[in-house]
Amino acid sequence: MNPPEFEYVAPKTVQEAVDLLKVRGEWAKVLAGGQSLIPLLKLRLASPALLVDIGKVPGLDYLAESDGHLRMGAMVRVADLNRSALLKKKYPAIHDASGVIADPLVRNLGTVGGNISHGDPANDLPAVMLASEGEMAATGSGGNRVIKAEDFFTDTFTTALAHDEILTEVRVPVPLPRSGGAYLKVEQKVGDFASAGVAVQLSVDRASMCTKVGIGLTAVGPTAVKAKKAEEAMLGKQVTDRVAVAEAAALAADAATPTSDIRGTAEYKKRLVRLLVARGLKRASERAGGKE
Ligand SMILES: Cc1cc2nc3c(=O)[nH]c(=O)nc-3n(C[C@H](O)[C@H](O)[C@H](O)COP(=O)(O)OP(=O)(O)OC[C@H]3O[C@@H](n4cnc5c(N)ncnc54)[C@H](O)[C@@H]3O)c2cc1C
Repeated sequence: MNPPEFEYVAPKTVQEAVDLLKVRGEWAKVLAGGQSLIPLLKLRLASPALLVDIGKVPGLDYLAESDGHLRMGAMVRVADLNRSALLKKKYPAIHDASGVIADPLVRNLGTVGGNISHGDPANDLPAVMLASEGEMAATGSGGNRVIKAEDFFTDTFTTALAHDEILTEVRVPVPLPRSGGAYLKVEQKVGDFASAGVAVQLSVDRASMCTKVGIGLTAVGPTAVKAKKAEEAMLGKQVTDRVAVAEAAALAADAATPTSDIRGTAEYKKRLVRLLVARGLKRASERAGGKE
């Protein structure tokens, strides 16, 4: 199906883009990589009168550490995350996720900002942000603000972004020494959305005790889910502590509220969460240099 008619503008600055969104209100939509929005237009599930393409705004595609954070400009492509040696070494949960998002064609165009702004509970990066104390920097007609990942995903396909706000940067703290992360996803076929996915980011002390634990879940709720009780259950515990891991995995499964669909029954997805949390903790701990 062809998309409905729309106007198209490609502003040269974030401010110009924000002004257009403000003036045109609900009828204007940001276009980034187009990998979620264009299919929606073609299916006529969205019919904005104006697309504001931020792809021509310079300076939104940086990927670097500064001031204690890894900073990802909103227009960084998912494929660039996967090519980054820095991410592979120091931010393996983001790196893992970037390799299992869709297929190479989608990864070449899809952006970090789009993956997160879309608010799709089946997208893979939101859970990683929840596990990694992620923050989103946005610019709107009211100025700039920073939104914590746990306050960002408010409902299915809905985020804390106001209609005239543009997500400009996604960032996570530089990990402490002895930190590791992992993202594990079960999909029915390569390139598919997750039946369930789990992100883990943790830090351990010299005795391999967890001093910091973040756990995020994909595709098992109306939004990506932060499994807070599971995180707490691992604090002060070693990942070799099978009882603690089993408890954390069960608590994460309790936090999941999946629905039965073509990717599996709700019960199956909860079992996946339980399994993936245990595996994710193990892999993240190995990467942190913990005892295994
Ligand atoms: C076949 C297929 C398979 C896929 N499989 C997966 C998968 O397994 N895992 C996964 O995570 N994703 C998957 N996706 C989604 C893909 O990752 C998209 O690229 C991503 O969800 C949206 O990024 P985008 O840059 O293309 O955004 P767009 O499609 O351009 O925009 C998506 C939404 O976000 C808004 N938006 C975009 N950027 C901004 C911004 N900077 N500020 C404010 N609002 C913004 C838009 O207005 C729109 O509402 C798949 C897509 C396809 C087509």
